[in-house]
Amino acid sequence: MISEEEARKKVLANIWVRPSRSVLLSQSLSCFAAEDYFSSLPLPNFDNSAMDGYAVVASSCGLGKRLRVIGEQPAALDRQLRISAGEAVRIFTGAPMPAGADAVVMQEDVTREGSQIVVNVEVVRGEFVRRRGCDLAEGQKIVAKGERIHPATIALLASQGFTQVSVGGEVDAAVISTGDELVRAGEEIKPGQIYESNSVLLQALLQRCNAAVKSVRHCKDNAKSLRKTLEEAIKYSVLIISGGVSVGEHDLVQPTLRSLGAKIDIWRVAIKPGKPFLFGRAGDCAVFGLPGNPVSAFVTFLCFVRPAILKMMGATNLDLPKVPAKLLVDLRNESDRPHYVRGRFENGTFAPVGRQESHALFGLSQSNALLRLEVGEARTGGESVDVQTFD
Ligand code: AMP
Ligand code: MG
Repeated sequence: MISEEEARKKVLANIWVRPSRSVLLSQSLSCFAAEDYFSSLPLPNFDNSAMDGYAVVASSCGLGKRLRVIGEQPAALDRQLRISAGEAVRIFTGAPMPAGADAVVMQEDVTREGSQIVVNVEVVRGEFVRRRGCDLAEGQKIVAKGERIHPATIALLASQGFTQVSVGGEVDAAVISTGDELVRAGEEIKPGQIYESNSVLLQALLQRCNAAVKSVRHCKDNAKSLRKTLEEAIKYSVLIISGGVSVGEHDLVQPTLRSLGAKIDIWRVAIKPGKPFLFGRAGDCAVFGLPGNPVSAFVTFLCFVRPAILKMMGATNLDLPKVPAKLLVDLRNESDRPHYVRGRFENGTFAPVGRQESHALFGLSQSNALLRLEVGEARTGGESVDVQTFD
């Protein structure tokens, strides 16, 4: 049995980054940038008005001062207007500032009288003017290689005139659930049987990672049919198998993978839940064997499969978000393995939810965070702990 850290290192050492591809900006959400991007235009790229109002020369504007309106500048092509002291230009939000103007007075703060305005406020130089480059300088890094593309990242790239962006490659995945006791939802359930739930759980987790789920199959604990199903599934980049990786006579995944020429790099990791975790390679396919217990499958997915998929997609940050939380109860890890406690992170606090056993799906469904406790680690209610959020 190896430690979680060793296992993660080993998994990642055996994962290759997919070749990058160019996609339309509108198709790039949640992908990872495959290169650094720099601005070619400052933002704003010209001095412009932050308000609908009048562009003025601040030094010529006292309270009650009368100014002559010499023209109008909408947010459109620059009309190349110029003003001097005692003059104003009617201007709109986003419109280029006329030469000579150094402030904008809001239209609510003037009284318009024909071709003149009366200024009803004190005007400060620079007021309501958005200066060229004040938000973003030319040549500044706007997206780093490996950074996730968010909606605002897309807008920022568009503001620089990009229509396409180079992002990490797609990851295709297959899921196989195993077990004689399992019945597909919608079918009749008999005594001793349970509904199969891991394949949809794993599909959902893969979707969260933006992986393309290409095949979902169920297989009885039967060497022949398992071999056939595995053989078809290892043509994908990632294969996730649920169940059948323990030590019972019905746990056929490991020998069957070996019979197909797969190399098993990891079997059994010191984490709770999730000890029987398996990782190997079959040709170019990264094979993950997750324990059948739903909570174990969930936790091992987040610990090992998620970072592997993110790495394949070119991500820099492979970790779940970590946040400090005030622990609401006393906790102690009495087990011989680091324990991922499932619980709820809410309003800066964390409390475990439900039974902390690997089959306890209901508690997991109410949770949104994990707290990792080392062997023997004890934490007291009121203490600050770092939890990993997954929702
Ligand atoms: P296994 O890892 O195959 O020994 O299974 C461990 C436990 O998880 C058993 O109680 C199984 O019934 C349960 N289990 C295995 N696969 C699934 C699945 N796909 N959906 C729900 N429960 C499962
Ligand atoms: Mg089983």
